[in-house]
Amino acid sequence: MAEEYLKAADGNHMTAMALAQAGLTHMFGVVGIPVTGLANACVARGIRFVAFRNEQAAGYAAAAHSYLTSAPSLLLTVSGPGCVHALPALAHCQANVWPLILISGSCDQASAGKGDFQELDQLAATRPFTKFSGRATTIREIPAVVANALASSALGRPGPVYIDLPSDVLHQTVPYGEALELAKLVPPFVPTFQNPSPSPELFASGQAVDEAAALLRHAERPLIVFGKGAAYARAETELQELVKLTGIPFLPTPMGKGLVSDTHPRAATAARSLALAQCDVALVVGARLNWLLHFGEPPKWSPNVKFVLIDIDKSEIDLRKPHQGLVGDALLVLNQLNKAIKDDPFYLGDSHPWIEKLVKKARDNVERMEMQLQKDVVPFNFMTPLRIIRDAIIAEGSPAPVVVSEGANTMDLGRAVLVQTEPRTRLDAGTWGTMGVGLGFCVAAAMAMPERLVVAVEGDSAFGFSGIELETLVRYQLPVVVIVFNNNGVYGGDRRNPEEISGPYKDDPAPTSFVPEAAYHTMMEAFGGKGYLASTPQELKSALTDSFSARKPALINVMLDPYAGTESGRMQHKN
Ligand code: ADP
Repeated sequence: MAEEYLKAADGNHMTAMALAQAGLTHMFGVVGIPVTGLANACVARGIRFVAFRNEQAAGYAAAAHSYLTSAPSLLLTVSGPGCVHALPALAHCQANVWPLILISGSCDQASAGKGDFQELDQLAATRPFTKFSGRATTIREIPAVVANALASSALGRPGPVYIDLPSDVLHQTVPYGEALELAKLVPPFVPTFQNPSPSPELFASGQAVDEAAALLRHAERPLIVFGKGAAYARAETELQELVKLTGIPFLPTPMGKGLVSDTHPRAATAARSLALAQCDVALVVGARLNWLLHFGEPPKWSPNVKFVLIDIDKSEIDLRKPHQGLVGDALLVLNQLNKAIKDDPFYLGDSHPWIEKLVKKARDNVERMEMQLQKDVVPFNFMTPLRIIRDAIIAEGSPAPVVVSEGANTMDLGRAVLVQTEPRTRLDAGTWGTMGVGLGFCVAAAMAMPERLVVAVEGDSAFGFSGIELETLVRYQLPVVVIVFNNNGVYGGDRRNPEEISGPYKDDPAPTSFVPEAAYHTMMEAFGGKGYLASTPQELKSALTDSFSARKPALINVMLDPYAGTESGRMQHKN
């Protein structure tokens, strides 16, 4: 290794050694002063550095990579503006309960406060969005700061952390042998799902588990709800076993989709409203009763529903005050629950009134949606291209493609139409409804799950936030097909009533409008990827067949009727 020929290790090498010792594998970012050397040192230590065009997209990639690998990933930025551009990723991780380690270079400690190049109090800037913000003030402090940051990010409720590395620290040196010894102070990170002896606080109390099992056993209309906390814990085998043991119907949150296949006969997704409104006991695993689950309150839920929550974080249980709270890791606690159920088994068969009711409702809803989907509407509405894309994704079989989705109508309708059969194969705007995550998520998914095709279904507005990262897809030759639903703007361009437009700037483009019929596919071609324009079912089918089999970066520009869809998608009441 190159370092063996060095007489001394500088701060860059010390940091890279500490990160490698921790077992961290991927760093996303944008290099520049003072961290270019750090990126190179990480590569020399076997850490993959994935270079982006913009820190915000790099940050979303690091965030999704953390989620998909159940371990913190690294984000590297320059000082000042670079660090500020990383704040959205920290905030996104905080909102979505994902780990992430941001490392930023910062200005020389001796010149701090004097108006140095790209100077900023980065510890203060990152603190509102992090579980831990720490600075190494000397090279010898680097391993301890790395160890503290890693522990804070990964233990308990996962979350984002920040490591501040002043440029003078990066330039300090220690003898190479001493650096090797110092790096050994960092404990290697082992995700819970791979840990043969997990710590006792990750299990729920035996009494709480027995009570939860009894609640489910005696329920008349039980329901299992699971979310991205269960996906992060990799609790899919345990969830599948629970459904198999008990026959209880289940409802995934958007990113929980696939932990148990959407095609499973007990999937209640197509009867969601009925399932929520009428269940009497709801076991909620790794999902918060926030806006996405209507706060667990009427009218969407029955006022008498008894919630049983499994969550890694006791504060979540304290906040929601469920009938029964099981604090612990979803995978481990579900194992405990399955054992308790096996001791006194029960099963809701196909003829159980609750199952019959849900199955009938789901069948009716699916039939109604399928009638809409099967029409070939040209110019395209949302449903026709979504059906064609759904069928192409299903035809891929296993390993199933990862679907990345963002946009208003595109994401809302896509969630109902696109099917997930395998865990962690859906990434979307998440708890915060963050637009602009798409291209970063594509890179993350392709790196974390290299055996899978990645298919991004993006509204044209959402795509625009990070469209330049098409170049990153081409540079790394990733198997990503970006499908842009092009309806000329946010919610479909100018939908204003002409009578409401006045004032000196009335002839400006509408705030919702983009250049009509923009040739997004040629952006991909500009970088050497493959571009397709699709305005008819046949053109779309042929573009999908071609691009899915090529497994190279491609963009399909799907021209939509700009008047299809609605303003704000399904969130109209909030706009
Ligand atoms: P969704 O958006 O899918 O509903 P949320 O992000 O709202 O999911 O909730 C995820 C929940 O999962 C959080 O409350 C978080 O504390 C919890 N969580 C995270 N990791 C684990 C884990 N390993 N085991 C159990 N719960 C977890």
